[in-house]
Parts: sequence; structure tokens; C-alpha cells
Amino acid sequence: MFEKILIANRGEIALRIQRACREMGIKTVVVHSEADREAKYVKLADESVCIGPAASNLSYLSMPAIISAAEVTDAQAIHPGYGFLSENADFAERVEQSGFVFIGPRAESIRLMGDKVSAKHAMIEAGVPCVPGSEGALPDDPKAIVQTARKVGYPVIIKAAGGGGGRGMRVVHTEAALINAVAMTKTEAGAAFGNPEVYMEKFLENPRHVEIQILADQHGNAVWLGERDCSMQRRHQKVIEEAPAPGIPRKIIEKIGDRCAAACRKIGYRGAGTFEFLYENGEFYFIEMNTRVQVEHPVTEMITGVDIVQEQIRIAFNEKLRFKQSDITLKGHAIECRINAEDPFKFTPSPGRITSWHAPGGPGIRVDSHAYAGYFVPPYYDSMIGKVISYGETREQAIRRMQIALSEMVVEGIQTNIALHRELMIDARFIEGGTNIHYLEHKLADMPDLAKKHQ
Ligand code: ADP
Repeated sequence: MFEKILIANRGEIALRIQRACREMGIKTVVVHSEADREAKYVKLADESVCIGPAASNLSYLSMPAIISAAEVTDAQAIHPGYGFLSENADFAERVEQSGFVFIGPRAESIRLMGDKVSAKHAMIEAGVPCVPGSEGALPDDPKAIVQTARKVGYPVIIKAAGGGGGRGMRVVHTEAALINAVAMTKTEAGAAFGNPEVYMEKFLENPRHVEIQILADQHGNAVWLGERDCSMQRRHQKVIEEAPAPGIPRKIIEKIGDRCAAACRKIGYRGAGTFEFLYENGEFYFIEMNTRVQVEHPVTEMITGVDIVQEQIRIAFNEKLRFKQSDITLKGHAIECRINAEDPFKFTPSPGRITSWHAPGGPGIRVDSHAYAGYFVPPYYDSMIGKVISYGETREQAIRRMQIALSEMVVEGIQTNIALHRELMIDARFIEGGTNIHYLEHKLADMPDLAKKHQ
């Protein structure tokens, strides 16, 4: 096994990867910006290297700084976590060219899946059902664009080929608005992602977001680890995730899961990955693949007993998967609430010093967080400061445990969205299960008094 791994990330995922390494007896090197110098996981690491100032583009996104840190510390492999450079094919390539192992897929796979147009094409070839839409990127000819939209049928959604993080998308309801919307999305996509290419999809009105977790080794084996329902979203960003997805017949999910594993074998994928789908009226439609570990991976770990981060490391070390599909069994139910440093109802970020921190515990509760009393939440990065995960034999038990956990949890000094999670855990529609991707936005819009209630 590797003796030393460099963790090229920060926050809760840096700690999560560090824990996986320590359990496996692997030494860790943590890189950090000047803003993260005091973080506890930095102190817990066997070695740490400051790679630059607070601004991400000068630290966590600096490929030369990270690769030099691996060189000076003699690390053998680099784990990119999620976000930052995790889905940057050039980084994966440079890591391997510099003689280190990239704990993730090959650069070609990242490139293929990073471009949503080529990803969809590959999935159609592999027999994975996709959202109906344009064949590839939209051409410049306005007439051709209008024709495509008529064929697909309104409403349509214009999406950036290089988009991510819920950005670079625009819904169009009428032909009159189409050409302008395409032009605007193109301009934004060019500026934000360095790629002005856009494509068109049918806008599904009431879908759920259901995704399949896969693991594939370098010996042609691939398995899927059940599904996750991530429909509770705000601005296309996930807020709560759960596994399994309530109310979807197992037969339909098994069919799509097997297709995903087969697609991995077909494209020679290696590592962990997620196939994201929209699910509507009993049908799955592929939207994109994430070629990295995801924020919501713990819910899958809880119901499968598989440590996804450790498996990523074993796969990168060229080990064969230790289980076959028939060895994967799903047991119980898990829910994850993302805890953000933000106003719970206005959503403005709330960085600053945490003066008191009381994390919940007890049976079936897992807290993945790097925060503690006295920790300063820097204003430079994502507002997520941790995740509370509950596990139960049934969904009801997982919800009940989460309600108790959230009632115990105390964070002072900054604002957090815990109050919103408390509200959602007693929401009748959530408790029933199977809400669609618009549910949370509608609830927030319909309940302006929610904020007052929690003051
Ligand atoms: P990103 O890479 O930015 O996360 P995705 O393609 O995964 O973009 O889409 C993110 C979210 O946007 C989905 O979870 C869903 O809420 C919404 N979305 C994307 N495509 C469609 C579509 N065709 N119809 C309806 N909603 C969509």
C-alpha cells in the first residue's frame, strides 16, 4: 500500500480523507492556504505544507504549488477530494507526469465526462438513457436552434457543456425568448468555464434527482453501490441527501445501476464516480457524471458498509475490487444534512469565529466536520462547515434520529442553516418522501414567515 498520501483539499473532506488514510496506516501530508493554517486536521497530519495565500487560485488551485509539495514531502499519491482540482483533467495528467499517482480516474475519463456534450454522447453509446435534447452542441445558426427546440418541445433548458456547480443553465419557455437565452448562456459559459459551447435539453418539470454511486478498478471490474436521492435542492445545489431513494421500485433502480456499471467497464473508467439522473414518471434520464468522491458519499457508506474513500485509495494502488455486485447489499436508511455557515432563510454567508460548538451523537449519528469551538470559518471558501448523517433501520428511524441530532446541535458565533434543517425534518411532504427538485424553493417562497418563526 502507499506509505504517504498528499491531500490536496481543505475542510471536512480533507479530514475525511485523512481519517481514511490513518485507518489504513498511511501517512498524510496536508497542503493548506494561509487562511487554513490553524485548522485541526492540519495539525493532525504527519506533515503539512503551506502552499499560498487565502485566495484559492493562488493555493488550492495552484497545480505547481501542490506538485512541489508532493515532491518535497516524498508523497506517492495525491487525493484531490471534491471541488478545486478534483475534476481537472490537466491536473490529473500533470500529477501522473510528475511521477505521482492521481487518486481518481484517468485524465481521458475526466475530460470525456467533464464536457457534458461528450459525456452524454458516451452514455447514449453505452445504452444509458439521457434527457431528450440537441444532438451535441448547439450550432450558431438561429434557424437550426429554433428547429431543435420545436423538436424537443418547450420548455427547454440551455446548458453549458463545461458547466458545473449548478451554474450555466437557463430555462426557456417560449420561442420568442430562445435565441437571446442561448446567446446569454454562451457568453456566461465562455466567461465562467472558458468554453462557450452550450446544448439543449427538454426541461423536465417535476423530476427527482437520483444518482448512482459506482466503483471501478483497473482490472475491468465495476460495481454500483445503490442510489442516493438528492432532490432537496436550492439553486440547483443539494441541501439534504438520502439513500435509498424512497418509493422507487427496486427493479427500475437495479436496471439503471447495472447499466452504469456496464458503462464504466465500456469506457475503462477507474475509481469512484457518480452517474446523476433526473427521475420522472418511472424513467431515469442521465444528466452528468461526477468523476470524484461526492459530498454526499457518507449516506451510501452507511447503508452499504463500504468505505468509499478507502476503496478509492485501493483502486489507485491498482488493487482489484474486493467485492462483486452480488456482495453489495443495502441495509437500512441514511440521511445527510449539509451544515452551512449562512443565514438559514436568507442564505447570505456567515463566516467568522465559532464561539461554541456542540456536535450531536448517539446511535446512528455521524458528524463529518472539521469545525470546533474557537474555529474561524474563513470567508474565502464554500460555506459548508460539516455534515450530519443519520442512520436508521427504517427511513422513519433515520428521520427521528436526525430530528434529535439537530435539536442537540449548538453552533454559536456564526449563523448556520441548522434551523432550516430542523424545519425540513418535520415537513409533512419530506416525511412522506419523494419530493421533487423544486420542492424546497417552493416551500421557501411560500413561507416568508419561516424566517420570523426562527428569530
Ligand atoms: P451541474 O453540473 O451544474 O450540477 P447538472 O446537469 O448536474 O449541473 O444539473 C444540476 C441540477 O439542475 C439538477 O439536479 C436539476 O435540478 C437541474 N436540471 C439540470 N438539467 C435539467 C433538465 N433537463 N430538466 C430539469 N432540471 C434540470
